[in-house]
Amino acid sequence: MCGIVGFTGRHQAAPILLDGLSKLEYRGYDSAGLAVRDGENETEVIKAKGRLKVLMEKTNGGESVPGTCGIGHTRWATHGEPSEMNAHPHVSDDGNVVAVHNGIIENYQELKDKLLRKGYSFYSATDTEVAVKLVDYYYKKYGESPIEAVNHAMVRIRGSYALAMMFRDYPGEIYVARKDSPMILGVQDGESYIASDVPAILKYTRNVYYIGNMEMARVRMGEITFYNLDGDEIQKELKTVEWDAEAAEKAGFEHFMMKEIHEQPRAVSDTLNSVIKDGKIDLSEVGMDEEMIRSISRIYIVACGSAYHVGMAAQYVLEDLARIPVRVELASEFRYRNPILDKDGLAVIISQSGETADSLAALRECKTNGIRTLAIVNVIGSSIAREADNVFYTLAGPEISVATTKAYSTQLIASYVLALQFAKVRGQITEEQCDEYVKELQTIPDKISRIIDDKERLQWFASKQANAKDIFFIGRGIDYAISLEGSLKMKEISYIHSEAYAAGELKHGTISLIEDGTLVIGVLTQPKLYEKTVSNMVECKSRGAYLMGLTTFGNYNIEDTADFTVYIPKTDPHFATSLAVIPLQLLGYYVSVNKGLDVDKPRNLAKSVTVE
Ligand code: GLU
Repeated sequence: MCGIVGFTGRHQAAPILLDGLSKLEYRGYDSAGLAVRDGENETEVIKAKGRLKVLMEKTNGGESVPGTCGIGHTRWATHGEPSEMNAHPHVSDDGNVVAVHNGIIENYQELKDKLLRKGYSFYSATDTEVAVKLVDYYYKKYGESPIEAVNHAMVRIRGSYALAMMFRDYPGEIYVARKDSPMILGVQDGESYIASDVPAILKYTRNVYYIGNMEMARVRMGEITFYNLDGDEIQKELKTVEWDAEAAEKAGFEHFMMKEIHEQPRAVSDTLNSVIKDGKIDLSEVGMDEEMIRSISRIYIVACGSAYHVGMAAQYVLEDLARIPVRVELASEFRYRNPILDKDGLAVIISQSGETADSLAALRECKTNGIRTLAIVNVIGSSIAREADNVFYTLAGPEISVATTKAYSTQLIASYVLALQFAKVRGQITEEQCDEYVKELQTIPDKISRIIDDKERLQWFASKQANAKDIFFIGRGIDYAISLEGSLKMKEISYIHSEAYAAGELKHGTISLIEDGTLVIGVLTQPKLYEKTVSNMVECKSRGAYLMGLTTFGNYNIEDTADFTVYIPKTDPHFATSLAVIPLQLLGYYVSVNKGLDVDKPRNLAKSVTVE
C-alpha cells in the first residue's frame, strides 16, 4: 500500500519527491525514504521512521540532498516492523541497484535462500530487499542491461509489485516494473515523473502514461520507453488527467476529511450529471445497453470496507426496485470460496482506487468464470477499470483522507442509477416513475449541503461522546446498511469500539453489552420499519442505553424516545443512505478531532489497500 514517487529532470529531485510523498501519505505512513543522485555521484539514501515530516526535517525539506534524479517511498509495512532499517529505498550489497517497492514478494524466502547461496547478505526483514538483490544478481549475470535484469527478476518473483529502481551505471535514469500494484508515469517540459497515484504529480503534470501489468519502463528526462516481458519496446498513448491540482490540496480546511465531506454535493451532482441527459438515464458511456440489462439473471456485488457498505445499501434498492436477485460479498471472502456463479450473472466490483487487491482478484475470478463484470471506480485507468468489461466512473475527484466520504457517496449514486435503469428496462417501473426518481436524485446534492450547514449541533454532541467506550448503531433494511457505514466511520478515525447491528438481531446476544450510558444510535429513515426499530431502541433504553435517533423530517416524534435527535431532509426512502450517512460522517470526524487524533491518517490504516 506504500506510496512511490520518482523524478528525473532539471529541477532538484528531493523537494519534488517529498511533495509527491506528502500527497501519498494516505497510502502508508510508518516510515519514509529517498534516494537521490547528483550527476554521476553515488546515490544518497536517507530514511526515517515515522511520519513523512521526520524525513522532511532530516533532509531540511530536501535541500540537504542535492541531485536531479531520485525515488521516494512512504511505507505501510508488510514484511518487517516499521523501522529505519526496513524503510525503503533498499540497496543491493555493493550499491549497484537502489529501489522502492509497493506490494508483496510472496516467494521472498525461497529467493532469499537462493541469493544467500550466491553470497548475498541481508540487512533488513523486508521482502523488498530480496527483490532488489535479485535484480542486481541478474544484472550481473546477463550482460548488465537493466531491462534484461528486471525482466528476469519479474519471471522469478511471485506476488505484487510496483518497483522503481536506479542503477549505478545509468545516471539520470529510473527503471520501473509493475504487476498488480498501481503506478503511473508522467511527462512535462522535458522532465519525467513516477507515482503510485495521480495526486502526487498533479501539481507538475496532467500528461500520464498507464503502465500495464508485467510491463517495464525506462524513464529518462522527458522521455519514457515501455517494454514488455520479452524486453521488446511497446508503444503507449499519453493520456490527460482531468482532475485539477487544487483538488489534491486542503483548500483552507483543517483536514482532508472535512474538505471531502464538503465536496460531496459537487461530487454527487457531477456523478449524476455524467449519466443523466435531459432528465433521462443514459448509460451509453458505461456501455450497458437495454438488451444487456434484460439478459442479466442476477447481480453479485463484490467490494471491501465502505464500498461493501455501498453494496449492502444497493442490494436493498436493486432488489426492491428492479426485482433482480442481488448478493453482496466481501471481496476477500469471495475470491477464495470457489463461488457458484450463474453464467448470465453480472458482477459489480466497487472500489474507489480501482486497485484494491482483493477486489481486483475477485474481478479476475469472475472473468475466469466467464461472467460479465462492471466496475464502479473513481480512478481512471486503474487496474479494475481497465480489466472490467464495463466501467461506471464516479466523479469524486481525488480522495486523500483515509476515511472515505465523497467516494462512498458517489458510489451510492452509481448504484441508484443502475437500480433505476434495471427497474425501467425490466418493466418494474414505468418511464414516468423513473423520471420521478431521477428528479428526486437531483435534489440530493442540495439536501446534503443543508445537512452539512447544520454541523455545529453534531460538533456539540460529539464533544460529549469523546470518552465513550462502545457505541452501537442499529437499523433495519437500508437503515442497517447506513449503520454499517456509520459504525465504520466511528471506529476507524475515533478508535471507539462500535458495532452496527440489524436492530432486530440485537436481542439475540449483543444486547448483553448495553450498560448504563452506552450510546445507541438508531437509524430510522424507512417509514415501514420505523416503529420496529423504535421498539428495539426502547429495549436498549430499558437497559440503560443513551439514545440518539437519526431520522427524516416529518417522521413520528422520535424526541419522546431518543435523548438526542438528528433530522435529515425528506427524500425517497430508497435514497436515504445518501443523506443519513452525512451526520454520521460528521459525528466520526468531530469525535476524532475532540480526542486530538490524526483524522486523515488513522493508526494502522492505509487507503487504497493494494495488498491482500
Ligand atoms: N512489502 C514491502 C514492505 O514491507 C512493501 C509494503 C507495501 O507495499 O505496503 O516494506
